[in-house]
Amino acid sequence: MEAKSKGLLVVFSGPSGTGKGTILKAYLERHPQARLSISATTRAPRPGEQDGREYYFVTREKFLEMRAENALLESAEYCGNFYGTPRAPIEAWLEEGHDVFLEIEVQGGAQVQKLEPDSVGIFILPPSIEELARRLRGRGTETEDVVQNRLAAAKRELCAAEHYTYAVVNDTVEAAIEKIDWILGAERCKVSRNRKFIEGVLNHD
Ligand code: 5GP
Repeated sequence: MEAKSKGLLVVFSGPSGTGKGTILKAYLERHPQARLSISATTRAPRPGEQDGREYYFVTREKFLEMRAENALLESAEYCGNFYGTPRAPIEAWLEEGHDVFLEIEVQGGAQVQKLEPDSVGIFILPPSIEELARRLRGRGTETEDVVQNRLAAAKRELCAAEHYTYAVVNDTVEAAIEKIDWILGAERCKVSRNRKFIEGVLNHD
């Protein structure tokens, strides 16, 4: 029997407030075989967030220990807190053939794309900066100081689109999902991902 092909590692980034979380949630509901990595973070849970669901909420000491043990694929400091991607579940899922999404900020995104050149970098863009500011305020869970801080970070992050292969504008969730389907469909068709299949065809008597 033909070996099951490995899943795609998808680095999914974009400024805070672009709606990348909403897009991903809808995408994952539609593609139950895909997996979302759960990050470790030192930031405090927001109302409604649960340990082990949105994040693993850990102390700074625990985070540094995980990083020292090489248990994180990447890590970054963002707005005063640490965030990192646990390595083990990702490797297992990819081997099992699941596509794995990392919803991470751009410093971490750059680290993963350098370490794993086969990963697929997708950058989500807001339709406009006005819309981005509106969405950040609309969340209603942050103080104005935090909103201003995040808007400034978002503007800096927009410059990082340059380091990603694909840009998807979040006009509507539906349209964004359709574009992600095209991107991953094209990625699966790359010759570099189909060498075993091609060899099989060539060696068939
Ligand atoms: P938030 O605090 O709003 O949940 O996330 C802040 C930023 O950290 C977002 O851009 C989010 O994508 C990013 N982030 C979440 N988990 C990770 C991670 O494991 N690594 C990195 N580098 N960024 C992360």
